[in-house]
Amino acid sequence: MIQFDRVFKRYPPGIDALSDVSFEVGDGELVVLGGHSGAGKSTLLKLIAAIERPTTGSVLVNGQNVGALKRRALPFMRRNLGLIFQDQKLLFDRSVFGNVMLPLSIAGFPPGEAAKRVRAALDKVGLLAREKAMPIALSGGEQQRLAIARAVVNRPKLLLADEPTAHLDSETAADVARIFMEFHRVGVSVLVATCDAGLFADLAPRRILLDHGRLAA
Ligand code: ADP
Ligand code: ADP
Repeated sequence: MIQFDRVFKRYPPGIDALSDVSFEVGDGELVVLGGHSGAGKSTLLKLIAAIERPTTGSVLVNGQNVGALKRRALPFMRRNLGLIFQDQKLLFDRSVFGNVMLPLSIAGFPPGEAAKRVRAALDKVGLLAREKAMPIALSGGEQQRLAIARAVVNRPKLLLADEPTAHLDSETAADVARIFMEFHRVGVSVLVATCDAGLFADLAPRRILLDHGRLAA
């Protein structure tokens, strides 16, 4: 599903965020991306989502060279991805339901079918009873679950999450980890970047470890 071949990413003015990174992730795998702050985890996820492009090397997602996609092809490519990134904020001026509805409205779904999908996504993260609530009224863990519901409402085959348990206590973080496990169990590929080495520990997932932009394990 994902193939990195000798990928380098250099940001101006000359910061090597990734150096000579090669690896593969198969269909339906759950992979934890570990490493210190600044190791290159976010950059790696951004290359998969074509938010950044590699300086050299290739990033293939389902056989497609995403670093070479034309700008107008990006929205279609991203429709197949579920992104749970720090900079994708919840919309605080609309309800829980409205937040999850948004990607489907943009994709032009008929409202009836969309509402069914929104409720299915909210059900998967245990937020169905809160559909009318405003995000401000949710706890940190609930807000993170809402971000997951929004990311999966398009039923993507690949979920990318960047530090999804930052700022959560360990019990709430474990709940969020269990939700990712559930998606993995039904065949979704999941790539989670986290500095929390204990997260998913009991599930013994495959780990990719970055150290100063290089694959360490
Ligand atoms: P992590 O997610 O592991 O904390 P990042 O991928 O965010 O690591 O960062 C890797 C390195 O690239 C760091 O040195 C960071 O400062 C640098 N970096 C990240 N994004 C940018 C950017 N847009 N411009 C310049 N440097 C960046
Ligand atoms: P439906 O029965 O609503 O048509 P699907 O056929 O799309 O559901 O998927 C069957 C089951 O697989 C869903 O109930 C769901 O638990 C799971 N599933 C598969 N892919 C995804 C995904 N990307 N996001 C969420 N759930 C998924």
